[in-house]
Amino acid sequence: MEVDADRVNLFGLDRAGLEAFFLGQGEKPFRARQVLKWVYHAGVIDFDEMTDLSRAQRDRLKAMAVLSLPEVVERHESRDGTIKWAMRVSNGNCVETVLIPERGRNTLCVSSQVGCMLDCSFCSTGKQGFNGNLSAADIIGQLWLANRELAARGLAVTNVVLMGMGEPLLNFDNVLIATNLMMEDLAFGLSKRRVTVSTAGVVPGIRRLAEHTDVALAISLHAPNDALRDVLVPINRKYPIAMLLEACRDYLAGLGPHRSVTIEYTLLKGVNDTLDHARELAALLRDLRCKINLIPFNPFPASGYERPDMDGVRAFQTLLLNAGYATMLRTTRGDDIQAACGQLVGQVEDRTRRQARYIARVQAEAAA
Ligand code: SAH
Repeated sequence: MEVDADRVNLFGLDRAGLEAFFLGQGEKPFRARQVLKWVYHAGVIDFDEMTDLSRAQRDRLKAMAVLSLPEVVERHESRDGTIKWAMRVSNGNCVETVLIPERGRNTLCVSSQVGCMLDCSFCSTGKQGFNGNLSAADIIGQLWLANRELAARGLAVTNVVLMGMGEPLLNFDNVLIATNLMMEDLAFGLSKRRVTVSTAGVVPGIRRLAEHTDVALAISLHAPNDALRDVLVPINRKYPIAMLLEACRDYLAGLGPHRSVTIEYTLLKGVNDTLDHARELAALLRDLRCKINLIPFNPFPASGYERPDMDGVRAFQTLLLNAGYATMLRTTRGDDIQAACGQLVGQVEDRTRRQARYIARVQAEAAA
């Protein structure tokens, strides 16, 4: 729970948390409903405007609690309509949040950590190093702020993907509170199919998720065998593919017959993008109810990787389609504002040595 001096940030509490908070104050738990509706349905975050609470109750609340949001420090709009915000979060660093408008849908890509501890070889967030978890309030605050901007245009966020900076399952408790609020009718009321937690493969986190929620699950697979995945997604050395896919099958078993897992596969030229890889992938996923999202690599300085040409990408997709997999090509959005997958970097006061090493490599390449 995030506390400002002695005051609790109510953005960090889901319905159960808020009910417990009010009970602890000697108040009735239905106060939680009132506050949730003000904050998430009416967009009111000034306690004085919550007029169905008495004056005395509002004063008590002000003494005990705050409603504090990340601060938007930058906003960029792409020529394709994608919007990227840099937001200063409670630990003083900045993370990035991206809104992707598509016909009839507004998908918000939310960050869960400042930087990332995992060091996937093709992701620029990993190169920034790591500086801690976002609070639940930091996570839900990204959605609240984006939604407020859309509401002014008569629109709303319709889908949320935890595919921004960070590994959501390594910030489990805060991500769970935030996703509860996303799906809570008194808050954002999104359906469980429209809230997606994406993981690089933290198997114990997937198993824990199954015990607490039924959000949609996406797996960043990126390779059809352990030898290659060990290199691209190093956490694979700890939780290899067979263990990961078993956790996915078990997760789905708890959800009922019509749900599936999304497999994300970033295509890297000459690395994981041949038709042999596609065949191996098709065989690997045979026993998993899944759809596949192919993401052509989005370049960043000194990445060491290239995007494959579109003919190759389409051939890879066609092979999977013919093998019976619903296979989407995730078209690149917002790359002119560095808002595409794997391009989010924020402002991370790195606690590891990774950022310094990366900067040295970029400088060396620029000098060469
Ligand atoms: N840590 C979580 C959440 C990040 S999601 C996870 O790994 O799933 C971001 C998605 O973009 C992941 O599938 C990631 O592998 C992919 N990605 C990262 N860097 C990329 C790049 N440079 N180009 C294309 N996709 C990338």
